[in-house]
Amino acid sequence: MIVMKFGGTSVDGPERMRGVAEIVRGRLPERPVIVTSAMAGVTNQLQRLTETALSGDRAAMEDEADRLARRHRETALALAPGDAALVERLDAHLRELRVLLRGVRLLGTATPRSSDQVLGYGELLAQELLAAALRIAGAPGQVVDSREIVITDDHFGSARPQLAETRARARERVAPLVEAGTVPVLGGYLGATPEGIPTTLGRGGSDLSGSVLGLALDAAAIEIWTDVDGLMTADPRVVPAARVLEQATFREAAEMAGFGAKVLHPASIDPAIHGGLPVVVRNSLAPERPGTRIGATGSTAPAVRAVASRAPLQLVALRAPGRLREEGFLADVLRTVDRPGLQPVAVLPGPVWLELLIPADPSLAPALDALERYGEVRCTPGLALVAVVGEGLADAPAQWQRVLAAAGGIPLRRLVQGPHGASLGLLTDEERAKELVRALHRALFECAAGEDRT
Ligand code: ASP
Ligand code: MG
Repeated sequence: MIVMKFGGTSVDGPERMRGVAEIVRGRLPERPVIVTSAMAGVTNQLQRLTETALSGDRAAMEDEADRLARRHRETALALAPGDAALVERLDAHLRELRVLLRGVRLLGTATPRSSDQVLGYGELLAQELLAAALRIAGAPGQVVDSREIVITDDHFGSARPQLAETRARARERVAPLVEAGTVPVLGGYLGATPEGIPTTLGRGGSDLSGSVLGLALDAAAIEIWTDVDGLMTADPRVVPAARVLEQATFREAAEMAGFGAKVLHPASIDPAIHGGLPVVVRNSLAPERPGTRIGATGSTAPAVRAVASRAPLQLVALRAPGRLREEGFLADVLRTVDRPGLQPVAVLPGPVWLELLIPADPSLAPALDALERYGEVRCTPGLALVAVVGEGLADAPAQWQRVLAAAGGIPLRRLVQGPHGASLGLLTDEERAKELVRALHRALFECAAGEDRT
């Protein structure tokens, strides 16, 4: 069994869905289970719909809901003309969605719980369309409601899957469908609490759905199908010479995700979450390409796998002489700046000054004000952390020298190593970051003649 997850751009419209169906048809002997995202942009649209409902503007809300409905109905018509049952299933979802939105509008408030319910409709609609596309292509697609399979806690907005219960349900409800020769199609991103209250796994969470279902079903591999060829040696918009990686380790992929490579949801590459199953990233627009294979082990040559960059960051220095020795002081400071998704990138404790490298996000301003109760605060904004990523780096100090040499005259403010030495970050000014990325890529990938290239 394999789990194939298709992202929003891969299922964006009838043409793309047909392409996906062809890909799946070619893999039927491997007994695929399909996980799909909402069509591109639909989750954002649902987010907007919630906001419009909250604003009370009924006409605008109904207009936007009409647009959403039209887009899905048109896709159905183009894909499966005459499939009245499909249109009826879409309409049933769309009716429910409108009821929810009207409720939000009338109440004038949306709890995380009700937002999750609204946000999940993109996947509920997409799974119907993709299953229909599969049937037309000769692959017997069958929709399975993830809210009955992927059981999560009740952290609405970023619920965490509960593996034991999910595994039990997947074995009971999904595996037999595969045995019977059908192709289950599940909406990613969705789950439900054990009591059946719908949840979402957080934005981009369909990758995580794919991983969790892969583990639950003891899949041979998890394939993440997207609109790029795989993980790359650098962001191709910054470095035109960037190449696709044939393989990477989980740690490397996690470091790259941490540096904002948007290809994979960070949690989905945590081997603990999917039992170390290999994850393969592939391009649904170019299915003949091999993509990037991410595994627990792998060659650590070459030592450097990729150059990544994260910005905007700020270095916050807190003067608190001796206080670090006090029990709970560091924890208090960290709690003060802890915001979802904006956690410190590095913490540099010293006897007098404590430095925190944190995202430069306006929402952190109150946190920085609050820090002043501990002592003088000095902020250096406008920074970027440019990092070379590679597990082999930990054992290759000679590479560190190459990295520093390649930085040439670009001013560096700090060096930051990642866990297990799998990355070496160079803190520089944001406006020099691209130049630094290019310089490192050139030195480490473009003129490394004779080196083993991945
Ligand atoms: N549709 C959801 C989102 O856009 C989940 C996903 O695409 O992974 O965040
Ligand atoms: Mg999406």
